[in-house]
Amino acid sequence: MKCISVVKVGSLRDPNPETRGQVDVLDIPEQELGPEDVRIKVAYCAICGSDPHLVENIFGWEPPFGMGHELSGVIVEVGEKATKKGLKVGDRVAGNFLHFCGTCYYCQNGQQQFCTHADESNNPGMAETVVWHESQVYKLPDDVSLKTGCLLEPVSVATRISDKVDLKLGQRVAICGGGPIGLLALQAMHMGGASQLTLIEPIAERRELAKKYGATDVIDPIAEDTVTAGLELTNGMGYDVVIDCSGSPRAAYPLPQLCSRGGKLIYAAMYPNDWEMPLNLYKYCYYNELTITGLYVSPYAFPRAAQIMKHFDLEAFTQKVFDIDDAKAAFECQISGKYPKVLIRCNEFPGE
Ligand SMILES: [Zn+2]
Ligand SMILES: [Zn+2]
Repeated sequence: MKCISVVKVGSLRDPNPETRGQVDVLDIPEQELGPEDVRIKVAYCAICGSDPHLVENIFGWEPPFGMGHELSGVIVEVGEKATKKGLKVGDRVAGNFLHFCGTCYYCQNGQQQFCTHADESNNPGMAETVVWHESQVYKLPDDVSLKTGCLLEPVSVATRISDKVDLKLGQRVAICGGGPIGLLALQAMHMGGASQLTLIEPIAERRELAKKYGATDVIDPIAEDTVTAGLELTNGMGYDVVIDCSGSPRAAYPLPQLCSRGGKLIYAAMYPNDWEMPLNLYKYCYYNELTITGLYVSPYAFPRAAQIMKHFDLEAFTQKVFDIDDAKAAFECQISGKYPKVLIRCNEFPGE
């Protein structure tokens, strides 16, 4: 079967074709179906902001390796013991690319995101079919199409961000970075009752989307100083909650200054793994009592994400679709940043 794979590691933006990273469509064998697994015929798989980092080889995997974790599809085969959730052939589903073992220390301690066996069944989703353990698979609500359904995983990340924020009605929230996760987190904070909601983002189209999704203010960090603008918008108080979804060191660094005293600062992106950020502990942790945290993946969030996803406005996220054979063009389009999301159609399902 076809599977979009990393065939050469390196940055996709590298101007030198000798060292540039490369993806291609490879013919790989279908995965074997275990007794507790289901086989999904993949409809759509979205390109994640983290996928180009995968091509850069942040995890140190040996190429070629398959890609894709934001997928939807239809069940075509159910293992004999995959009976706990009532899944059946023909179900429209999406799910979690990670399988948590349920047995290790972390799984037993309410921290399945740190499962010590989670990597063992991480099968690639930019493929014609994928095999997942039934615990990874969630039925899509009837009113969520397969095209929208592939966004269950990013919606689960917004759900996890909400869990970490634990927003109180009326709090002021700033979000830095208007990529897909930033815009979904913004919608979540709007639903959750933020009184003031500011997006910090250099791309004008994304700032416009944010206003449509409930942002009360936007800041262009190229045209104005983020901290000055944010403090002005909050009468000098700062925000109760600041969420970074940019992953950019330059954008992430000044964010402690945007937090109100006693506020919460969540670094909710993936960062360059060798970057260290100076932080004045006296000012921000002792005197201002900030709570600073981050997040890795989205444990315990998928069932709620599936329930709430129809309340998200996901139209702008499903505008650009490439066929699986056009993998290279799809990745070029993704790194151009022109669309909030780029989808790959792995199989045709008429009407979806
Ligand atoms: Zn993702
Ligand atoms: Zn585990």
